[in-house]
Amino acid sequence: MQTGKIGVTTENIFPIIKKFLYSDHEIFLRELISNAVDATQKLKAMVLAGDYKGEMGETVIRVSVDKKKKTIKVSDRGIGMTQEELDKYLNQIAFSSANDFLDKYKDQSSAIIGHFGLGFYSSFMVSDKVEVVTKSWQEDSQAVKWTCDGSPEFTIDESEKTDRGTDVILHIDKDSKDFLEEGKIEQLLKKYCKFLPVEIAFGKEQEWKDGKYVDTGKDKIINNTKPAWTLKPSDLKEEDYQKFYRELYPAGDEPLFNIHLNVDYPFKLTGILYFPKIRNNIEIQKNKIQLYCNQVFVTDSVEGIVPEFLTLLHGVLDSPDIPLNVSRSYLQSDANVKKISSHITKKVADRLNDIFKNKREEFEKKWDNLKLFIDFGMITEEKFYEKASRFALLKNTDDKYFTFEEYEKLIKENQTDKHKTLVYLYSTNKTDQYTYIEKAKNKGYDVLLLDGQLDVHLINHLETKFKESRFVRVDSDVIEKIIQKDELRESRLSEEQKNDLKSVFNVRVKSKEIYNVVFETLDENESPVIITQSEFMRRMKDMSQMGGGMNFYGEMPDSYNLVVNPNHNLVIKISNDLKEESGVKLAENDAERKKIREEIAFLESEHKNKKEDEISQPEKDDLEKMKKELGDIESTRKDMLEAWGRDNKVVKQLIDLALLANNMLRGEELSTFVKRSVELL
Ligand code: ADP
Repeated sequence: MQTGKIGVTTENIFPIIKKFLYSDHEIFLRELISNAVDATQKLKAMVLAGDYKGEMGETVIRVSVDKKKKTIKVSDRGIGMTQEELDKYLNQIAFSSANDFLDKYKDQSSAIIGHFGLGFYSSFMVSDKVEVVTKSWQEDSQAVKWTCDGSPEFTIDESEKTDRGTDVILHIDKDSKDFLEEGKIEQLLKKYCKFLPVEIAFGKEQEWKDGKYVDTGKDKIINNTKPAWTLKPSDLKEEDYQKFYRELYPAGDEPLFNIHLNVDYPFKLTGILYFPKIRNNIEIQKNKIQLYCNQVFVTDSVEGIVPEFLTLLHGVLDSPDIPLNVSRSYLQSDANVKKISSHITKKVADRLNDIFKNKREEFEKKWDNLKLFIDFGMITEEKFYEKASRFALLKNTDDKYFTFEEYEKLIKENQTDKHKTLVYLYSTNKTDQYTYIEKAKNKGYDVLLLDGQLDVHLINHLETKFKESRFVRVDSDVIEKIIQKDELRESRLSEEQKNDLKSVFNVRVKSKEIYNVVFETLDENESPVIITQSEFMRRMKDMSQMGGGMNFYGEMPDSYNLVVNPNHNLVIKISNDLKEESGVKLAENDAERKKIREEIAFLESEHKNKKEDEISQPEKDDLEKMKKELGDIESTRKDMLEAWGRDNKVVKQLIDLALLANNMLRGEELSTFVKRSVELL
């Protein structure tokens, strides 16, 4: 028997190990099984190289729990260890690397993601005693048993073990008894060991016999030793990829496409990424990319390793080259990780480009489900934009799809305005904005449908990319104003008449939205009244709603333009009616106004010829009084016009029709409108 002290520097490292990575105690199982897998793989390699001449026999790794004895056992039939090896690997090397690891990360346990490095000693996080019984592959080697109770003292004894390999027996401490539940161990095995390359048995397969489930003699193997990503793409069919997806996410929707990654240089990376169907809401993201290191599960939070938009994808990445035992902030700056990240981005873009080029029809069919992902990528990753701008699609309101280039070609001639700016018309809702879309189409224009979750941001982004172009929503102004051409049209109403009508139409002021009455000289066949909302204000509000930080805009009331067409017969009729019904009163007001304006003009011109101190106070007071009088006359006029407008059914009807066309007439206003319509008929 050998006894001794582990090459210890601190008095007792085990309390530290126990406390360390508290929330991650469960990784002990992964560490022990990884060691067992390594030992088995090493033996297989020796067999292949002809260095081991004995029988390999069965190599299943067995995990078992004994609730009574409070032990967990992991047994392998790998290379095993001789007494010298045991002493060297467990007492010196393993211990000192665990020691180093703790030294390095003592203060930042929460910052660590991979947890590789702690290795064998992580078993002391859950045990008060650990036994290792092992027999080396070497002929005639004596089996040995190492025991350590959590203090730096250990013992090594001879053991009776007859077959090759290693048993690690953990005596679970009382704080960790959860791990003695079979359900818990099974869950951990499924999480970390599902795709390990050596078979792992836990319990027995069961069968239904005499009214209950009973164990059969057959081992229950919990892992798939040859997961799809480790196979050659040429050996896999579409179904195999689908099947593997199901293995990863039993309850997932069928994915749209997949990419099989296989890189050797300058780093090793394999994996399969799937494009899921994403329609909405980036938050709902249950199925995450899983990161593996040589088929051992490491984590499913890959932030920092792949660009954010790629975290929307599903699947598996496996790389021994991603440094796993370092903090996240370090990961982000690691050159290897950066390379991996940009490589994956490139691969994803290339794959999409392939599908677009070779199967455009299929690509278009799946576009609506891909759009959010691609938009997100284009907005956040310049490199991805460069590639994606060749296959990203724009959909118009007739459900036709175009690449950026195709679309520019389509609208270039017709939708360039007199300032040489190319105007991209878009709608965010085909039903609500129907009338505006129709008007644009009647002019021969095309209208895009941009109703996606990220479209507000995409539009901003594309405006920085497309030269001399802007995006305008179809209802942000009358179409003649959105795309201004060089045609001049005469207004059939004078400025004075329009001014009066402005007050007449100013009748909806009491509602909580703000309406600005403006006149646009349109064709007489155009609508008499149209409601529009300025592109700028709407975008600002949209952005602030999405948390763009522009709260100032978010809190402003909605403001609309009430566009009146002075060339429409009904508008002209209103102007004529106004003159007929209130003409006398208005003319009187007009005369008064004219008189006082002349007087003010006279006084002002007199004052102009004098120096400031030559004007007497009474003279100044006089002018002030007159100005006030003019104000009164004007506001009387305004009141008169508004009162007239308020009683005028045609005015109300026209405004309500415009609101109706905009889906903005609701509730009481709508029912009043219906009643009034019946009366007017
Ligand atoms: P690592 O696995 O990272 O090298 P560990 O502390 O987990 O560190 O293990 C230290 C060493 O002990 C291993 O490198 C290996 O040589 C030896 N070892 C551990 N477990 C086994 C096992 N089941 N069979 C054979 N050798 C083992």
